[in-house]
Amino acid sequence: MKIILTIFNAVFLALISIGQAAESPAKPNILIIVADDLGYADVGFHGCKDVPTPNLDALAASGVRFTNGYVSGPYCSPTRAGLLTGRYQQRFGHEFNPSEPADGLPLGEATLADRLKTAGYATGLIGKWHLGELPAMAPPKRGFDEFFGFLSGGHSYFTSGQVLRGSEEVKEMDYTTDAFGREAVAFIEKHTAHPWFLYLAFNAVHTPMHATEDRLAKFANITNGQRRTYDAMLLAMDEAIGVVRKKLGDSGMDKNTLVCFISDNGGPTMKGVTINGCRNEPLRGSKRTTLEGGIRVPFVVSWKDKIKPAVYDQPVIQLDLHSTALALAGVEQKPECKLDGVNLLPFLTGEKTGAPHDALYWRLGKQMALRMGDWKLVRYDNHVDLGTAGVSSAKLYNLANDIGEMNDLAAAQPEKVKDMQAKWDAWNATLVKPLWGGEPSGANAAQPGIEKKPGRKQ
Ligand code: CA
Repeated sequence: MKIILTIFNAVFLALISIGQAAESPAKPNILIIVADDLGYADVGFHGCKDVPTPNLDALAASGVRFTNGYVSGPYCSPTRAGLLTGRYQQRFGHEFNPSEPADGLPLGEATLADRLKTAGYATGLIGKWHLGELPAMAPPKRGFDEFFGFLSGGHSYFTSGQVLRGSEEVKEMDYTTDAFGREAVAFIEKHTAHPWFLYLAFNAVHTPMHATEDRLAKFANITNGQRRTYDAMLLAMDEAIGVVRKKLGDSGMDKNTLVCFISDNGGPTMKGVTINGCRNEPLRGSKRTTLEGGIRVPFVVSWKDKIKPAVYDQPVIQLDLHSTALALAGVEQKPECKLDGVNLLPFLTGEKTGAPHDALYWRLGKQMALRMGDWKLVRYDNHVDLGTAGVSSAKLYNLANDIGEMNDLAAAQPEKVKDMQAKWDAWNATLVKPLWGGEPSGANAAQPGIEKKPGRKQ
């Protein structure tokens, strides 16, 4: 009788457990893949011809491709700060790239990894950090359980150098892009018992221009050496993304994993930045500018069987990926967190219609931009047109029929310029001075508890 009761209890407990599982399905995994300095034109789903990107194209075809997908700045580190905090980075002084190791994401800001950990997620960063190089600012202190990658803004693809696993230096390593793909697969294989968040931040296709011989051989027909190397580097990243997608598919995890892909900024085509052979057509401008070429990027969100494949035209920004991830994980977005992103999921499922944002904003020193509907007000780096320092006068473009920002309507529509300027001024009044670098402050203020040490420039 005792045995029968024990069996009965076991079955009863199992049924309760099944019932609970039915009521609260497993939280989805979240994979955010970031490319570095990728040109807007350099993916097959934007029409790129000279380098195949079949895995990125398959990802785009499987989900939502955003035609107006933005990042909150035209440089590497600030947009990563925006992504991981879900806030315009100028709100906490992270407006420019760090120039010293002690310049980094302010310790008072919580990261997406911090927030997802509270919801039971395993968290990992594989690849580039670029949000502070001192131990107190490194990924293991910013919510990431696991870290394989480097802390600075750029790194050799062939030597281990300062590549770390956790806080220990890695002695030997594959070509970084291959290594990051391999490590991402290992992370996914390891975390099957609980939800996970993986931030897979390739340094491809950022300088230095390093490619493997086998991949260079595939582009022997390309006579421009820089473009040939770029294509080989991009192919490597596409292959690594393919390896990761295959792991998700083979394991069945793709049905429970949100996959996002962006570039951290527009392609660098302008003198004075990390020129790599990329292309931004049909956009004008480059990394470093608030023209579309600096801030509009390839942008994809995919979730098998949950989000219907589509092309989405309303403006969105990488800050939205943060809010979307929190919503999926069931993490409350408290008002005191002051997040700027929007949960995109209701817009992608059709539950909500209209635009997620009434406006999107940019500031980089004296450069600025405001996007409202099809209209864009912008002051951009004069180097684009004139090859000189300084910033242009305010230009007004209608992106619906002028994606290349060629036809300035500021003189024809002074009222619209005035209204948009007032909107941007109100936003600007909520920001702080940059903690380091660039104009207008040059304050370079130290963070409490962080000792400034002399370091190499980037
Ligand atoms: Ca970048």
